[in-house]
Amino acid sequence: MALLQVYKFPQPVLKQQARPVTRFDAELRELADNMLETMYAEGGIGLAANQVGQLRRLVVMDLGAEEEDDGVASAATHAGRKAPPRAERPREPRVFVNPRIVEASGETVSEEGCLSVVDFTAEVKRARRIVLTYQTLEGEPREEAFEELAAVCLQHELDHLAGKLFIDRLPPLKRQMIKKRLAKLAKSA
Ligand code: ZN
Repeated sequence: MALLQVYKFPQPVLKQQARPVTRFDAELRELADNMLETMYAEGGIGLAANQVGQLRRLVVMDLGAEEEDDGVASAATHAGRKAPPRAERPREPRVFVNPRIVEASGETVSEEGCLSVVDFTAEVKRARRIVLTYQTLEGEPREEAFEELAAVCLQHELDHLAGKLFIDRLPPLKRQMIKKRLAKLAKSA
């Protein structure tokens, strides 16, 4: 496994559309593994292939103990304790190939950040529940419903595949301000 470079705004690859995956081979599995390792190393909960410079419809996610969309809260939550730090939580890596949202309902607003948008978070409005069709790394078709954090994370990652960042979902004035600031930061780096 290897750590990959995470592309940051305003790198052009983040504005481009990812293409469907057609080969389900060892190379794809290796890319997914490397994306997961990179995501863990950077402390993220999701990563889209665009973010590592690959225009392929591939997303990885791990919400670990934060995952509660099956209605079963973690033992730590039941005991009223704070969840242990990320590194101590059991890993629950998920890989989605050629994901597509086929249903979206409800509304939720949450604070989002992005490994490709350095030092900036903002509240973004998204659907509260989605139904996703996707393929496994073996090419098996799947359909699955997600809610709350998982739904928000997947919508964020699917935006990446469409060449969109979460800052593109902010009101125009705020978006302009942020993009200017980020562009300046990128230049001085
Ligand atoms: Zn992101």
